[in-house]
Formats: sequence, C-alpha cells, structure tokens
Amino acid sequence: MSLTLDLSRTPIAAPVNLSGLTREGLRAALVEAGICPPEKAKMRASQVWGWIHHYGVTDFAAMTNVAKDTQARLAAAFTLARPEVVERQVSNDGTRKWLIRTALGIEIETVYIPDVGRAGALCVSSQVGCTLNCTFCHTGTQKLVRNLTAAEIVAQVQVARDDLGEWPSPKEDRRLSNIVFMGMGEPLYNLDHVADAVDIIADNEGIAISRRRITVSTSGVVPMIPELGERTQTMLAISLHATNDPLRDVLVPLNKKYPLDQLMAAIRAYPGLSNARRVTFEYVMLKGVNDSPEEARALLNLIKGIPAKINLIPFNPWPGTDYQCSDWKTIERFAAILNKAGYASPIRTPRGRDILAACGQLKSESEKVRASALRKAERAAA
Ligand code: SF4
Repeated sequence: MSLTLDLSRTPIAAPVNLSGLTREGLRAALVEAGICPPEKAKMRASQVWGWIHHYGVTDFAAMTNVAKDTQARLAAAFTLARPEVVERQVSNDGTRKWLIRTALGIEIETVYIPDVGRAGALCVSSQVGCTLNCTFCHTGTQKLVRNLTAAEIVAQVQVARDDLGEWPSPKEDRRLSNIVFMGMGEPLYNLDHVADAVDIIADNEGIAISRRRITVSTSGVVPMIPELGERTQTMLAISLHATNDPLRDVLVPLNKKYPLDQLMAAIRAYPGLSNARRVTFEYVMLKGVNDSPEEARALLNLIKGIPAKINLIPFNPWPGTDYQCSDWKTIERFAAILNKAGYASPIRTPRGRDILAACGQLKSESEKVRASALRKAERAAA
C-alpha cells in the first residue's frame, strides 16, 4: 500500500531566526537542536552571538571559528536571513526610510534620522498597524495586523546597519547611536517582544546600544509602565499632546481608559527617573487645538516636579487629515514659556517629510491609499 502525504494540510514551520533570541534563548535553542551539550552551551552561544550581533553575518559559513560540521547543523536547524527590503527611500535631509517585509502581509516601516541623539537615531516599529487611533497619527488609520516578534524588531536595526555600513559594531564614531520605539504601534501592547529586543540590542558584545540610549514611547498604557522600567531600564517617553482629559480623550483616545491623573502618577513612579534619566514628553503642535500660551502653562502645571524634557513636534500632515500644523511663531512662543520655566523644550525640526518618514506619518505604503479613502468614506457617512 502506498501512502500519499497531503502537504497542503501539513503546516511547514519556518526555521527559527537566531537574531531574535536572547542569550538565554540562544543557549536553550542550541541545546534543544543538539548543536552542543548543555555544559558547552554558554561558550557556543557566546561564539555564535558575536557573529550575529557584533559582525552582523547572515550566513553560518562565515563563522570561521565554528567547525564546518557544526556550521552545517546550524544551517539545517536555523536561519539568519534578513527580511526583504521592499523599498528604500532617502530624504533630501538625509533621513532614510525602509519598507521591510518580514512575512506575507507583514510590512514594517523603519526610519533613520541623522544628527539626532548622539549621532543618529533609528525609529523602530513594534506592531504592524495600531489599535489606538490617535487622531493626529497616520499609523492610527491602519488597523492592527499583529505584534512584531523580537526577531522582526531586531531585524529593523540590522537592516539599518547593513545600509549604514556599521558591521562589525563600531566602538566609536557610530552613525546609529540611539533607538527610539516611536514607529508604528504601541510598544507596551507588545512588551514581551520589545523587552527581548532591548536585551539583544543593548548587549555589550553585540549591537551594544546602551539602555540609556534606547527610548520607549507609550501613549499611556498605565498598568504596563512600571513593568517597562523594571524589565528594560530604558528611557521613557510619553505621547502626551494635551494637558486636560477632554482634549486628550479626543487626541489620544486611550486617555478615556487611563486618564491623566493615573498617567502622571505612573510617570512619577517610573523606576530610575532622575535628572540624569528624564522622561520625554512628546507634544504635537496642532493649530488652534493645543498650542495656546494657556496650554503651555497648563503643561508646566501638569508636569511639575518631574525631571523632564518636552519635544515639541510640528504636526506633519498626511493625506486625509483635518489637522494643521501650528504657525512657527506660535510654536516658538509655546517653547519660550517652557524654556523660561527651566525645561528643555526643543522644537523638533521636521525630518523626512518628503518621503512621509516624519513623526506620525508612518504607514506601510500598501495601506496608505486604502485607509485614507476609508476614513473619508466613514466621515462622509457620519
Ligand atoms: S501615535 Fe502611536 S499609539 Fe497613537 S495611533 Fe499612532 S502609532 Fe498608535
């Protein structure tokens, strides 16, 4: 009797990408796959780790201090493949944006902004789409597809470093010095994978971007804020944008669930908060909405006593939005009030506007047209 295997019904699991495993995870995976016995796992994992995260190799055959038969066994069990870069755009101000496809229907936008932070910052995404619908944000018009895995978050850093020519990890004169989780998605709705990715990115024998140079921005998922601090020791940023609940309920609808008094209490208790580790408040400047001198003074009142800096973000328009950016003079007046009270409040120069890479503009190209048409239709129907 002959047996026919119906492959259409057999799920074919993709090989595990080692780039997304923490050190501990890597050790366990090597043992489980029979690459090495448990007593040799620490040493073997350390060797492989250096090749992946310090040298950035994508082929096990490049691991020259690993025996050939071990290389072959690694290649049979795992992968180091980078995701596909579907599109690469460079703005006339030097900002770079990559559209990365990690799997069918999973497209991520990642943006490198030169001359931000110590040398240059990479804005990474933590989800495809977002559930939160902040009304000023382009990404919020794209429905959540799913959380990104740690491998998919780390891959964004790898793709950027491939393009910037930063392998092996440079000790000095890096072009990519800071990571900000301010791309697509709400990182605190994907904290397990974000925390693993931070552990990988911050490891000293790999990509080695210190936790003080990694900022995680949240729109205010209050119950997860203490855990973020305890697990990652990263810098905290808050997507604030309003100083009273009625307005914030509109701009950041999550505020209805976690209003400002709860949010501010969680920020004040953030582990490690000090003058050396200040929280960043993101405040998008919307014409006639939140940009008056009274709002600036209300902001000072709200954050009183918190070691903080305030990033003022001129609103970056996107197709289908009803908001407009505040006038430059209005933004400067707002900043002056904050500055006078002793807060650093830089006005973030819009970067990468010509390639829709600026703050709040991220959204995979494939979704852009469809979603803004949908919004218009929804408005028309309302
Ligand atoms: S601002 Fe952040 S949390 Fe709000 S919709 Fe945009 S991506 Fe989501």
